[in-house]
Amino acid sequence: RIAYVNGAFLPASEASVSIFDRGYLFGDGIYEVAAVIDGKLVDSASHLARLKRSTGEINIKLHLSEEEIENLQRKLIEKNKLKEGLVYLQVTRGTADRDFTYPDDMKPNLTMFTQEKMVSNVAIKTGYAVKSVPDLRWTRRDIKSTCLLAQVLAKQIAKEAGCQEAWMVEDDGLVTEGGSSTAYIVTADDKIITRANSQKTLPGCTRLALLELATEENLAIEERPFSLEEAFAAKEAFVTSASSFVMPVVRIDEKSIGNGEPGPLAMRLRELYIDFAKRTAV
Ligand code: PLP
Repeated sequence: RIAYVNGAFLPASEASVSIFDRGYLFGDGIYEVAAVIDGKLVDSASHLARLKRSTGEINIKLHLSEEEIENLQRKLIEKNKLKEGLVYLQVTRGTADRDFTYPDDMKPNLTMFTQEKMVSNVAIKTGYAVKSVPDLRWTRRDIKSTCLLAQVLAKQIAKEAGCQEAWMVEDDGLVTEGGSSTAYIVTADDKIITRANSQKTLPGCTRLALLELATEENLAIEERPFSLEEAFAAKEAFVTSASSFVMPVVRIDEKSIGNGEPGPLAMRLRELYIDFAKRTAV
């Protein structure tokens, strides 16, 4: 496997950054994950726009254009002969002696690697079981920060409970999002419910594209928070992310959702999204 580190493509086993990298010391970095289908990047412009926004919000200056980054990602996909999977990209503030504050002239560290994973072709016979956990994160979740300890703990609790995803719940009982996905429910009258974008959640690229596709199909969408109780009683539930596209949720904690099988609307949205992904990949 070939990885990318600050201008060089090299074997992943030789790819490394300093122990003084601020991503390593402070989680002072931003990341992006984009899917690859048929050897091409899915929804790339959207991921690069979010990367630019996230780095801007924490004042990391990445001296590469979106086009240059995309070309590097394409080169990496080619070198790895990746047909289907993910491209992971991380940019940290850079390397400096340990100090909370940083000098003005930091040179960011940019690293990338690919992961082989079936994202479009997976059998969705069972869907995800979800575990609810308290949302322990900071209050700028709109920034795709590499500080993922809360999600690591949340998803580990979910895994140990036999679940594939965690849904994080605030003190007010409202679901924010999945550990690494956007959360949705479907009401009895077939409305798709998901939170509006705010600092409380990451603005999902998959969410953005899917809501546009759903609107084109004249499906009803309501952007608002929902409680865990409302989710328990929902007709369907599902999550979206670059690494799972659209994934039906069949159980939350001990409660089966609907009849406990992947819902028809979630499956239709999954098909719509995969068609979009294949049509528009670059
Ligand atoms: N919310 C969180 C917390 C995430 O980590 C992710 C993806 O990793 C998402 C939502 C979904 O975002 P996207 O659809 O851009 O992958």
